[in-house]
Amino acid sequence: MKIVALAGGVGGAKLAHGLAQILPPEDLTVIVNTGDDFEHLGLAICPDLDTVCYTLAGLANPETGWGRAGETWQAMTNLKRLGASDWFNLGDQDLATHLERTRRLKAGQPLSRVTRDFCAAWGIRHAVLPMSDNPVRTMVDTDEGELPFQEYFVHRRCEPRVKGFRFAGVEVAAPAAGTREAILSADAVVICPSNPWVSIDPILHVLSLTPPSAPLSRNSGEGLGVRAVAVSPIIAGKTVKGPAAKMFAELGIEPSALAVASHYEKFLSGIVVDSLDSELAKQIRIPTLVTNTLMTSDAERARLAQETINFIGKLP
Ligand code: GDP
Repeated sequence: MKIVALAGGVGGAKLAHGLAQILPPEDLTVIVNTGDDFEHLGLAICPDLDTVCYTLAGLANPETGWGRAGETWQAMTNLKRLGASDWFNLGDQDLATHLERTRRLKAGQPLSRVTRDFCAAWGIRHAVLPMSDNPVRTMVDTDEGELPFQEYFVHRRCEPRVKGFRFAGVEVAAPAAGTREAILSADAVVICPSNPWVSIDPILHVLSLTPPSAPLSRNSGEGLGVRAVAVSPIIAGKTVKGPAAKMFAELGIEPSALAVASHYEKFLSGIVVDSLDSELAKQIRIPTLVTNTLMTSDAERARLAQETINFIGKLP
């Protein structure tokens, strides 16, 4: 079965890794959010792309879910001593990625090509594509004004109250080469358990699943033209990590797997929710698989991926 997975960072990378364990390279394309990307210390940082790639390559830090395993922090320590900004941590190994990516982007190479070359160097055999080669920047509207995503997420630790989101540049950003083709030839799209607001919505918008002129809405598209199944990032009303539940609540929506289902309503043929939400699942009107969705090991990632594929196979 040919699958396109839409992924943000930590939650997305885990399920993408599960899918990569069970699908041959020709059957999986992972399209990754780049709305979190930003420039820092003069470097092009792509947090979600790096999390997905490090995870698929077996290089990720298992404790944090982001950054590199066995990382050291010499550069950061010395940058701090020189008075450089220190709110965004960049490990020594990770810095090599940002340095070389920045050099290549400045030389005019598209991000998709840089990513493809890095994947080859890291031994990743499945296709990983940024959603676009053009910059799209997620802006978070908060009670303290509009903040660039990393300013909100890392610097302000998601403390300001969220009022909405804007994806700057989305109107002119083209989907990266290969993304649309991958979706058109896929048997199904899997929306990974990533943050719906800031990890998945930017991808849906860039892939023009909504007309570029249409106002940004919660349900950002009119159907993918292919079966789509989401795995809920919300378990028993809470996130495993990150601000998705807080965002739902601050936008006046009770955070739950049901809220995730209705967020993606127009796209979904089915949804996978956690066993802790088995009662709630009865209220979901699309086909629902109830299973353990907490991916605590490589084997658990593969098991959830396999169950999701089996579920897709049984959908009408
Ligand atoms: P970010 O860009 O690094 O914030 O990463 P994502 O958007 O991809 O992932 C954040 C979401 O992943 C959060 O809403 C978490 O609840 C969810 N998540 C993380 N690990 C798991 C897991 O093992 N199972 C499920 N169902 N969701 C998870």
